[in-house]
Amino acid sequence: MLDHDLASFDRHHVWHAFTQMQEYEPLLIERGEGCWLVDTEGHRYLDGSASMWCNVHGHRHPRLDAALAAQAAKVAHTTNLGLSNPTSVEFARRLVEIAPAGLEKVFFSADGSSAIEAALKMAFQYWLQADPPRPSRTKFIAIGEAYHGDTLGAIGVGGVDRFTAMFAPLTFEAIRLPSPGGPCPHTGRPAPSLDESLAALEKILEVHQGTVAAIIMEPLVQMAAGIYVHPPGFLRGVRERTARHDVLLILDEVATGFGRTGTMFACEQEGVSPDLLCLAKGLTAGYLPMAATLATARIWNAFLGTHADRRTFFHGHTYGGNPLAAAVGIASLDVFRDERVLDSLPAKIARLQEHASRLAQLDHVGAVRQCGLVAGLDLVADKAAGTAYPWQEKRGTLACLAARKHGALLRQLGDTVVLMPPLSISLDEIDHLAAAAEAGIRDITA
Ligand code: PMP
Repeated sequence: MLDHDLASFDRHHVWHAFTQMQEYEPLLIERGEGCWLVDTEGHRYLDGSASMWCNVHGHRHPRLDAALAAQAAKVAHTTNLGLSNPTSVEFARRLVEIAPAGLEKVFFSADGSSAIEAALKMAFQYWLQADPPRPSRTKFIAIGEAYHGDTLGAIGVGGVDRFTAMFAPLTFEAIRLPSPGGPCPHTGRPAPSLDESLAALEKILEVHQGTVAAIIMEPLVQMAAGIYVHPPGFLRGVRERTARHDVLLILDEVATGFGRTGTMFACEQEGVSPDLLCLAKGLTAGYLPMAATLATARIWNAFLGTHADRRTFFHGHTYGGNPLAAAVGIASLDVFRDERVLDSLPAKIARLQEHASRLAQLDHVGAVRQCGLVAGLDLVADKAAGTAYPWQEKRGTLACLAARKHGALLRQLGDTVVLMPPLSISLDEIDHLAAAAEAGIRDITA
């Protein structure tokens, strides 16, 4: 097919995620080079959203490409239902090595939502099989405006209403703890303080005494909510309270994991180890779909028994533990180590912060929030009054589309423009990214 025909087929037949197909204008990316993507007409764009927050070391990293090819020469896929392969086992071993203390068991699946579903079901089943069993522990606590994926279980604990409200009849309802990140650009509500949120959690745990299975949250920053950065101490405060009330803690590091916040895992920054940890996106450096739910021995042990005991975790996905993905995952951890990726981050984070502070001065940029190598810029109609644009005007989308003309691919969250490049971005490339974002914002707010 000619490029033009491909674009036309794309426009009329390929149903894109989170995209109004009536308004969709095709852009076909043909190849990548480091932090750059090149379309079928040869235009180059800086990958300012890390290809949906998952690319880590850039595109076509030679070591990742080589690992993929080497594994393909052995076997592309075998099942992990009652069977294994050396590459996936080795990857599990490497993950346990770097995981927060106590997370020794690895359940592989294929994307972030699946990692969340597995964690929710594990937590639920755990209490049925704990010693002694606690079958009354069936509820989940989630943070306001949380986002944990699009499958039905994940949206049950999700709180971005514009995505999920219509599906309420199909999901279970989580108990909501107001988010201390924000202020909320979508509702305009001020965020509760650290003390207020922890007091609210305390109250929830007392009111629902003995009936809560787990609390689920993203540590340090809620990404899809709008880059809501939590006050320091929130995660630790939650952990202390879950421990006191014997409630499991599920951390969703699908977006925060693998260096995004400046450390390998965000929870390290508050010295917290969860009972269940969900990983995806950067797990394979953004190469292949793979996810993992890591669990403690305490949880694993509750699932042990004979076949007749019926304690098995009857859950799995066809591509869980895929060896191609695992091979790239191992190579990515090698790159983290050999290229000292985490050591390179403070300078990049500081450079992003300089730009974020400068962009905060723009007439139509309100709050700016940053955590590690991700920043969110809220577009506002009237800065002094703090008035949002009418959502129907989709200014965030327009700003990101305009930025393409200035050489960067960005992705918005409502009217929040998000800068989330691969960790391998250079300081010069951060300058380019910020300049493209600024130009895009100026274009559509002038
Ligand atoms: N959790 C978080 C925090 C996410 O950001 C996402 C995806 N953006 C998911 C879960 C779901 O992951 P996936 O899209 O791979 O299903």
